[in-house]
Amino acid sequence: MTTIGLIGLGIMGSPMARNWLQAGFAVQGFDFNPKRLEELAAAGGTPAGNATEAIRGADIVAMMVPDSPDVLNVLTAPGGVFETAPAGTLVIDFSTIRPDVAADAARQAREHGLRFLDAPVSGGEAGAIAGSLSIMVGGSDEDFAAAAQVFAAVGKTIVHVGPNGAGQTVKAANQLIVAANMQALAEAVLFLEAFGVDMEAAIAVLKGGLAGSAVMEQKATKMVTREFAPGFKVNLHHKDMGIVTAAAREAGVVIPVGALMAQLMASARANGDGDQDHSALLRGVERLSGPASVKPGKAA
Ligand code: NAD
Repeated sequence: MTTIGLIGLGIMGSPMARNWLQAGFAVQGFDFNPKRLEELAAAGGTPAGNATEAIRGADIVAMMVPDSPDVLNVLTAPGGVFETAPAGTLVIDFSTIRPDVAADAARQAREHGLRFLDAPVSGGEAGAIAGSLSIMVGGSDEDFAAAAQVFAAVGKTIVHVGPNGAGQTVKAANQLIVAANMQALAEAVLFLEAFGVDMEAAIAVLKGGLAGSAVMEQKATKMVTREFAPGFKVNLHHKDMGIVTAAAREAGVVIPVGALMAQLMASARANGDGDQDHSALLRGVERLSGPASVKPGKAA
């Protein structure tokens, strides 16, 4: 049986662990949050007391943590991956981090005799639960092939997009597109509500046309009902807008909508919505449109 040592059992890591367990992998996982460790045990996994315990004895080390510094910490801390994993271990980072950090982490991993794939995902919490994530993978052909079954258990669209770092570059583009979609949907929802349109009917027909999208499928109801429990936190999308705007600037590519979305995401965060789902961009549209735009009886 192949053992996955998983660091990070949050909104995404937790359901991914369940899918690996169901596919016949052993999962030994660690998260700072003890509730997440209990969930892993209940699903048939092995909760570890610290990262070292999760990494030790694993054939594959997987990470699903928030940001670049978290990944570097898991790799380089005393008792972390570089110190604990034996040479030849395949390390797969599913987190969304900076492409340059991913490429450098891969280089450092190779110096320690390890193999490294950046494999950020898209599809949201729903995709993680359903095992239907899109996985954009950067790394070598051999390592991509070696990870095929690990990916198949959690993903549906699995594409090797280039060398280390390329997965994160594609994910940065993904986050630009999702943010712009989310904002357009939020503006459309408030616009339709202002005219008293039947929202269920409007969303149903919009879903069937060119305006339909995965964002609309997953997020329209959250916006209409003002249910902003995450999901994908504004804080994480704020991190991602920082990644894509910095990378675009480096590349000399001008992304005006990306820059605007970085500002609107920062505003959502500054207004206290950092731990809400990114569909809470709707609240930003309400703030811009003034108190009259906020429907009575709905939490604003
Ligand atoms: P989350 O905050 O729910 O989970 C992250 C978990 O990592 C937390 O439980 C935290 O305690 C744990 N953690 C952080 N550092 C750790 C460490 N050193 N050791 C052990 N545990 C540690 O976040 P999430 O929504 O699961 O997102 C994880 C990553 O996936 C992020 O990079 C995010 O951008 C990306 N992502 C999220 C979604 C989504 O819809 N939520 C979709 C695609 C990609």
